Order: sequence, then C-alpha cells, then structure tokens
Amino acid sequence: MLVQMVTDATDTQVDRVVAFAEDRGGQVFVAQGAGRVVLAVRGMHAGPDDERRLRALPGVAAVAPTSREYALVSREAGAPRSRVEVAGVPIGPGTVTLIAGPCAVESREQTLAAARMAREAGATILRGGAYKPRTSPYAFQGTGEAGLVILAEARAETGLPVVTEVLRPQDAELVAEYADMLQIGARNMQNFDLLRAVARTGRPVLLKRGMSATIEEWLLAAEYIASAGNLNIVLCERGIRTFEPTTRNTLDISAVPVAQQLSHLPVIVDPSHAGGRRDLVLPLTRAAVAVGADGVIVDLHPAPAEARCDGAQALTHPDLDELARAVRDTASAVGRTTVEETSLALSLA
Ligand code: PEP
Ligand code: MN
Repeated sequence: MLVQMVTDATDTQVDRVVAFAEDRGGQVFVAQGAGRVVLAVRGMHAGPDDERRLRALPGVAAVAPTSREYALVSREAGAPRSRVEVAGVPIGPGTVTLIAGPCAVESREQTLAAARMAREAGATILRGGAYKPRTSPYAFQGTGEAGLVILAEARAETGLPVVTEVLRPQDAELVAEYADMLQIGARNMQNFDLLRAVARTGRPVLLKRGMSATIEEWLLAAEYIASAGNLNIVLCERGIRTFEPTTRNTLDISAVPVAQQLSHLPVIVDPSHAGGRRDLVLPLTRAAVAVGADGVIVDLHPAPAEARCDGAQALTHPDLDELARAVRDTASAVGRTTVEETSLALSLA
C-alpha cells in the first residue's frame, strides 16, 4: 500500500502514519524528495475499517493499493511526474536540462576550460568524473579526491552545480561534501550497498541504467534509493548492450517514454555513452528531446584528441553550441515550449 502525504506534511504527521501501520504489523518505508512525501507500507494486517482510518489521519493526501514492487517510484495512483532540483536547477516536466562536462576530471586546467565551455553553451549542470569505473585496470582511473576539489573550484567559478560519480559506499559522504548530485554509473546500478549509501547523503542521485538491465530492474534500483529515504532521483538511459558493434551501446529510445509511464521520476538521456561517437551525439540528442527526455548529459573536452578518457565521444566548443541550439529547436518543434523559461534561457539571454 502506498500512502501519499500532503506536500507540507509534518514529521509528527508522518510518525503517526508510521505508528498506525506498525501497530498492525506493517513495515514502513518513508521517502521524501521531488516535491513529495510518500510511504510504502508492506505487510500490514488491515482490519475492515483501517483503510478509511488511515485516509483520515492528518496529513494523508491519498492511500492506494500498489501492484508494483517499485511502489515509491511508480506512477500508480495517478501520481504526476516529478521535478528534481539540483542546487536550484530543475530537472523534470516543463524543461529540458542540459548537463555537460568532461568524462573525467584530468587536470585543473582541462576541467576549468570544460566548465567554461559548458557554461557558455548554456548548460546548467556540470558533469565530470573524479572517480572513474574503467573496464581496463591499466586505463586512467581518475584523480579521486583531488578531482573533487577541482570540481568544486569549477562550480565556484561558473556557478554550475556539479554531478559526479561515486564508486564505493565508503566514499559517498566525502563526494557529497563536494558535489550537488551523485551519479551511480551503469556498472554499479545493482550495487545495492552503494545505492543505500548515496541515498543516505540526502543529495539528488543520477541513476544510470545498467548496460544489461531491464527497465524493471532499473526502477527497482531506484526503489532501493527511495526506500532508503531519498526520492530525489533522476533516471538516465545511456544505451544498452546489444549485438550491434558500430555503436558503443544501443540507445534504447523507447525506454524514455516507458520509464516515464511507469515512474514519476525524471528521465534523461546520455547520448555520449550511448553512441560512443562524437558524430552521433547531436542526432541522438535530437531523438532524446523529441521522444520526451527531461534532459541530456553530454561529454565535452577542450582538446578531445588529448583526452585520457572517452575522447572519441567528447564534443568540442562549436559542437556543444550546435547541440544547445538543437535542444532548443527540437523542443519547440515537438511542442515542448517551456525550454526557454529554464535551462536554455541562459544561453539565449
Ligand atoms: C560516465 O558517465 O562517465 C560513465 C562512466 O557512464 P556509464 O556509467 O553510463 O558507462
Ligand atoms: Mn565516459
């Protein structure tokens, strides 16, 4: 059973609902964020009048049965789509958020140059990995905490909030001290201890879809974060592994509307890691915006040929300017008219 509280529900009101369910043998998971307070109640032995009494408790907006295992992130009971804010920058209905930055923080100069490129093109969130999950143990592994310090400097200079990846549960608190949003990479989508650890920091979480994960598995991974208390989650489709070798992954474009139907969470697309090729980032971005994605996250680099990580998919400054224009033009072509009000307003001003 799902209990939706009014948006300004007090802790006392939430506690009363929890006590009500626990008195009847229920187990309660409280999730807050994305403008809502939702409780998943499992295993409650409800008497004939209990549902009505639960509905009547102060602060309760709606009580609904759930058929989905991912109750807290599901759109059942007519839940409207959510907006997640990253240090004041919205991701969700009514906007198309452009997140851009280097794949990896390599150096101070490279990251600051990349951050300026992102800012000038009109991106409103800066990406960049300090801790990198690399397929080969001999590949560049990132700069760790030194990279976090550089990201914080880039944020201070550009004003852009920062999203960066966390690889280990024990690093979650440290990364949260520097970053505005924590990324769970595709390779860690089912690292359940890590999901709980990032949830507990209270920071918004960018949850990438595992490269071989079904949409249901992806939503259940989001449910791990939500059931640990944190509903500020943004889903990211970044391509899945198929038999096709010409692209790094296969962008599952249908996953965007499907995930938006099944879940109230915002869904963005990573066309850089999906295609793995600079020339595909623009067309895949157009597709993402046209299909209804709430944003895109793209790799860029001041000198892609020298990049220590994923240079083949990194955009240059002119590429990024063209991409930002394409986001705006595609959004208006498909009737998504509110882009100007938010993220891209900066570039148009
Ligand atoms: C990344 O965004 O830097 C990254 C490693 O992506 P993914 O987890 O999607 O491979
Ligand atoms: Mn990368």
